Amino acid sequence: MDERIVILGAGHAGGAAAIALRELGFTGKINLIGDEAESPYERPTLSKELLSGVDAEPVRLADDARWRELDVRLTLGNAATAIDRKNRVVTFADGCAEPYDHLILATGGRVRRLDVADHPRIHHLRTVQDARTLAAAATAGARAVIVGGGVIGLEAASTLVELGLSVTVLEAGERLLGRNIPAEAAGWLAAAHARIGVDIRLGQSVASVSERSDGLTLTLASGETLEAELMVVGIGIVPCAEMAESAGLPTGGGVLVDARYRSLGDDRVFAIGDLAVRSWGDEPAPRRMETWAHAGTSARAAALAILGLPAEPEPAPWFWTAQCGHMLQIVGDPDAGDTVITRGDGVRLYVREGVLVGAVCLDQPRDFGTAKRLIGKPLAPDRAGDPSTDLRKAAA
Ligand code: NAP
Repeated sequence: MDERIVILGAGHAGGAAAIALRELGFTGKINLIGDEAESPYERPTLSKELLSGVDAEPVRLADDARWRELDVRLTLGNAATAIDRKNRVVTFADGCAEPYDHLILATGGRVRRLDVADHPRIHHLRTVQDARTLAAAATAGARAVIVGGGVIGLEAASTLVELGLSVTVLEAGERLLGRNIPAEAAGWLAAAHARIGVDIRLGQSVASVSERSDGLTLTLASGETLEAELMVVGIGIVPCAEMAESAGLPTGGGVLVDARYRSLGDDRVFAIGDLAVRSWGDEPAPRRMETWAHAGTSARAAALAILGLPAEPEPAPWFWTAQCGHMLQIVGDPDAGDTVITRGDGVRLYVREGVLVGAVCLDQPRDFGTAKRLIGKPLAPDRAGDPSTDLRKAAA
């Protein structure tokens, strides 16, 4: 009988897993099931081209014809409700049950919410529908308050300024992008936002929100009040791990997996993308990796493991953010460096015991491409720190 693989979650990671399985020669049944009504798409354009109106559609992983050609059964708008691991069956909101031989969990995360009542003027930015709703509300001249100075908050701020809104960003921490970007590079982006007129307020959080006839009044924890026509809340995501937990799979801030994305509690179950919690190199604690690149690499790694194929070498983690006309790219783990090499205005190389462990590049795609390849390799600091020397020649 045909082997059956059920993939829960038809986002970027789930869709990429279905495609990888076929590309790697899997000939059994693939059921890719998602609760959103959209076929699998990538998220990076949501806060940029889709929000600005440059693109009307998100970047989809495949069109309908391609899904048919791949022989992937794509079911949208159907939420799974339970996993019965003993009988290897997933049950759904519509009453259907789907048996599996292998199950891939790719349910990602949902937005974290402020502790205030929902309101049509309070927006989040995670799905295509979120981006479309915010775009429709973002009229030139309006005032927007963005809560959260992370990647979503700052990318949205940049796009809303482009659309003619005036924007204030409230960040609870002492600096922007504290979760994933080194302080110096976060400072470059803070300066870029200041240049386009974004009002950035650090150490600020919202205590309450009240409705006026034509907008919102926000009261901050400091007691100050702000008026706005709309709010965008970008304060991170919460992994959708409840079903896995109810099924008795090991969880903790997501679904715990090994380096091949296999659940630590069940050989037949995998978790990929934003949902997966795993160890990374020498880092002391396992964690999730919420990036576009990881959606694809984790999907392929799980597909290889399910098919009994050897693991491929893993690229160093990387991501980018585009804001205020700039492109910031990060690779590896800058925090792990004991020394920072300054390479001109826009490149910082983080070295530990002479070996490149991380890099940050502002508008320097060529150096970034090289740095990606040099991660884990010894670097000659004099050549690396000289922007007139090709970075490839800095490999010691
Ligand atoms: P994020 O990167 O975790 O940033 C959230 C920010 O909000 C953090 O700086 C956080 O500070 C702050 N914050 C938390 N609670 C707050 C509060 N009550 N008031 C004010 N600030 C508060 O999450 P995100 O920007 O919402 O992004 C969501 C997801 O999308 C992430 O998975 C992200 O990686 C992904 N994404 C990626 C990209 C990209 O790679 N270019 C772009 C957009 C989105 P603390 O850290 O101090 O809690």
